[in-house]
Amino acid sequence: MKHTRLFTTLSGLTLTVGLLAFAACQTTDSTVLPTTTTTGTTSTTATTSIGTGVPDVYKKIYGATEIYVEGTNIVIKTKGRPDHKSPYYKGTQWESSLYEVYNGTNAKFGVNPNTISEFSLTFKIPMSPQVDASHSATPLGSTGVSLNGVAFFNQYAAMNSPLTIEINGFDQYGGHPQQQGQYHYHVEPTYLTAQKGKDALLGFLLDGFPVYGPIESGKTITNTDLDKYHGHTSKTADYPNGIYHYHVTAEDPYISGSGFYGKAGTVTQ
Ligand SMILES: [Zn+2]
Ligand SMILES: [Zn+2]
Repeated sequence: MKHTRLFTTLSGLTLTVGLLAFAACQTTDSTVLPTTTTTGTTSTTATTSIGTGVPDVYKKIYGATEIYVEGTNIVIKTKGRPDHKSPYYKGTQWESSLYEVYNGTNAKFGVNPNTISEFSLTFKIPMSPQVDASHSATPLGSTGVSLNGVAFFNQYAAMNSPLTIEINGFDQYGGHPQQQGQYHYHVEPTYLTAQKGKDALLGFLLDGFPVYGPIESGKTITNTDLDKYHGHTSKTADYPNGIYHYHVTAEDPYISGSGFYGKAGTVTQ
């Protein structure tokens, strides 16, 4: 009887060791799998996964979680949350590292009641943008994506009213969150222009045309330099053969004008 019991115990132990070895093997296999899946991709930052065939200009969108080609579109996934500080991080899980009291120059500044949240935004925009004669109106909500993954919004507040009042809620970096907590820029994203330059590429509108800062060839661009869609065609650093592009200006409508210049792609969240 004693021998039998000892044998049973040993068998049990052997079985347990065997299961542990099997489990360890499974763990190894499941870590190998994603590595295999991402073969053929490169990454410019630790957090952006970039698919094969993505043109270099889109790799400037450093705040994206994922960028890849899908047919004739480029797909850009972001969390829509700024990498810079903001008074609107107060009371959020990111407060300790990203909250900053308002230190801008607008004497009328007052925070709105909203705070910053994270989203899963998917922008699908044409890689070869084309002019579209209908120049469809820009929607309320996301109209484009900036380099840090934050959305551009158009020149209107709710009900297509001007930003006259809303503008006093823009933080020191030119953005604010709407009711659901989606942070966005209606005007120059000053953190990006400080980091990248006043003449730098700042992002893309949904129609695929690029958005540049308020300076070009050393000259400050004003609305009179642009058409009614708030852009013009010329060579840029990123497009040496020339392309239609939007400019951020200091006056309304700031980023985009009376509709998209091209046929707009989509954004989902
Ligand atoms: Zn807004
Ligand atoms: Zn220009």
